[in-house]
Amino acid sequence: MDTDLRVDELLKRFGTFTAVDNVSFEVPQGRFFSILGPSGCGKTTLLRMIAGFETPTGGTIAIRGRDMAGIPPNRRPVNLVFQHLALFPMMDVAENVAFGLRRRRERTPDIRRKVAEALERVDLGGFGDKRIDQLSGGQKQRVAIARCLVLEPSVLLLDEPLGALDLKLREQMKVELRALQTKVGTTFVYITHDQSEALVMSDAVAVMNSGRFEQVDTPRNLYDNPATPFVAGFVGDTNILRGRVREADADTALVETQSGLACRCRAGAGVGSGEGALLFVRPEAFIIEPDDTPDLTAITVRVDSVLFDGANSRLLARADDATGTELTIALPQNRRFDHLVPGSRVRVGWHTQAALCF
Ligand code: ADP
Ligand code: MG
Repeated sequence: MDTDLRVDELLKRFGTFTAVDNVSFEVPQGRFFSILGPSGCGKTTLLRMIAGFETPTGGTIAIRGRDMAGIPPNRRPVNLVFQHLALFPMMDVAENVAFGLRRRRERTPDIRRKVAEALERVDLGGFGDKRIDQLSGGQKQRVAIARCLVLEPSVLLLDEPLGALDLKLREQMKVELRALQTKVGTTFVYITHDQSEALVMSDAVAVMNSGRFEQVDTPRNLYDNPATPFVAGFVGDTNILRGRVREADADTALVETQSGLACRCRAGAGVGSGEGALLFVRPEAFIIEPDDTPDLTAITVRVDSVLFDGANSRLLARADDATGTELTIALPQNRRFDHLVPGSRVRVGWHTQAALCF
């Protein structure tokens, strides 16, 4: 598999502050690779180094095997789609897309042909003479991408390009953007703080926290097998119970929660007996009014409220013990829960495999 982008021990300091801390990864050709992390964790700084707008303090960046050290942004085989798209409102769609080609002083007939092709690729054929302000948010998005793709970059970098859109359009653009990437086959490196965007669109996701990569994995594995407590808490919704590890082997642990409940669970990397533990249980892992089975941990909770949201309906409750730990529990669609009125008590449980401790 050919590698489009290879980053090794990349470091960026601003004075004494380390914004990007020893990051290494590679992206094979044609992949949709996302970097997911909270605001301020260093995502944009990392992308700006790849694009050449920022000089690394240490480490190397190679694109298609070529070291990028000292190569200015306009000579790198990458393009960057900005959060606010940075389209030129005074120019029509075709002129926006042609911009980079003109700067490269390509011949007018070539420019015309390439622009028409690029607009076709993003399903905007025939939109060339429209003004930018005549376009919908999603169409503007595609113009911004066409403007980059027309330059045939090896890697397209996208810095939270859906950030400025409203929720409904964002949902739609997630699907569109992934379909577009698959169609054109260009390697995408996509930055976002929105875990749902990263999970839905990506072949692989790097979870970034305070300048470091905590885990690089498929969306499924990040969700099912988070490598660190940060990933377990950041990717997908989860509940956290505090406790102490009583026993631990390579795969499983016995955790005693603060309220004295003994819970067998999967053990995250590096869990040792006697240590403080965080127990992670996903909302959809809960079984409501479970039958007693050997590998089940059950507790009684007091209902705060039921949030009806169709397929995503949720029970908000708290543990009926001294800790009063707040819990969010997914309600399966195929049952009715009319008896779960505020103040009522209900047994809920989860299986060993559905709980993970660190
Ligand atoms: P993200 O894109 O994940 O929100 P950034 O890469 O923009 O994060 O910023 C990471 C950290 O680096 C932030 O704390 C930010 O304040 C700091 N930072 C970014 N650029 C500079 C700069 N030019 N000078 C000093 N600090 C900076
Ligand atoms: Mg940013």
